[in-house]
Amino acid sequence: MTTIAFIGLGNMGGGMAANLAKAGHDVAAFDISEDALEAAKANGCRIAESGADAVKGAEAVVTMLPAGKHVRAVYVDDVFDNAEPGTLLLDCSTIDVGTARAVAEEAVAKGMLMVDAPVSGGIAAAAGGTLTFMVGGTERAFERARPILEEMGQAVIHAGDAGAGQAAKICNNMLLGATMIATCETFNLAQSLGLDPQTFFDISSKASGQSWSMTSYCPVPGVGPETPADHEYEGGFAAPLMLKDLKLAMEAADEAGMRTPMGAKARALYEQYVKHGGQKKDFSGIIKYLESSSTD
Ligand code: NAD
Repeated sequence: MTTIAFIGLGNMGGGMAANLAKAGHDVAAFDISEDALEAAKANGCRIAESGADAVKGAEAVVTMLPAGKHVRAVYVDDVFDNAEPGTLLLDCSTIDVGTARAVAEEAVAKGMLMVDAPVSGGIAAAAGGTLTFMVGGTERAFERARPILEEMGQAVIHAGDAGAGQAAKICNNMLLGATMIATCETFNLAQSLGLDPQTFFDISSKASGQSWSMTSYCPVPGVGPETPADHEYEGGFAAPLMLKDLKLAMEAADEAGMRTPMGAKARALYEQYVKHGGQKKDFSGIIKYLESSSTD
């Protein structure tokens, strides 16, 4: 049994903390939302009074927070001055590479070990313990983090040094955003040319146009496996979260001086989709926006 502080018990963190408690760990949970705290208590976590209180005496600290500014604030205000040297820190939020590296550097200066370990998989995977973790940090930090991450996921992959987990996450999601848009506009064109979508799926999913966006997450209702398209584009991976990841990817591309024209276009289209109906929809719902908009 490990004593674990868990900060950030939202859509994702709530399920992840519950899985650590279910595995027999002593989980001291904290969130600024009372509702989130109550749910964590019902799921076997011990409720802490503050972030600082949660990390006192913890052998490991897991954070699952919205964005870089929240991560920086929690580590600077709560974690660094209250956790013991030697504590293992795991940030599972999706944030910018620069903040991930800066926070990890400060952790090392405080004598702590840190990994960035963003996830692939949504709320259902967080609740079911089937997330994929992409991990950045030293070999030593990774080996200490692995057993804890394995309690919350089905795959734990070491991507490289500090920040490499975030780099892998945003590169993967830039590719996903671009292939989803390409898949959506292709289905729209195919239908307008008189092709039956199921027939086009049967052909293209076995031909060179195949991708995960088509075969595993088809944006057309009634075609391929069951996806959010079959539920009016509810649930799944929310379009604003895809937009967040594309913005992080574009910031990283700017900093690295890399040309990513498809990523930039995907970001612009998701920005439009979120403004025009996609705020609460799955990211594959962009097929409807593309069908109706003649501006792009
Ligand atoms: P969420 O908004 O549901 O949860 C974040 C939680 O952090 C909230 O409960 C909030 O109250 C809490 N919080 C904020 N500031 C805090 C502070 N200072 N101290 C304590 N608690 C604080 O978000 P989520 O959907 O759980 O996503 C979390 C992270 O996971 C994000 O970085 C997101 O991009 C990433 N992610 C989400 C999904 C998804 O499908 N939801 C999938 C993959 C990755």
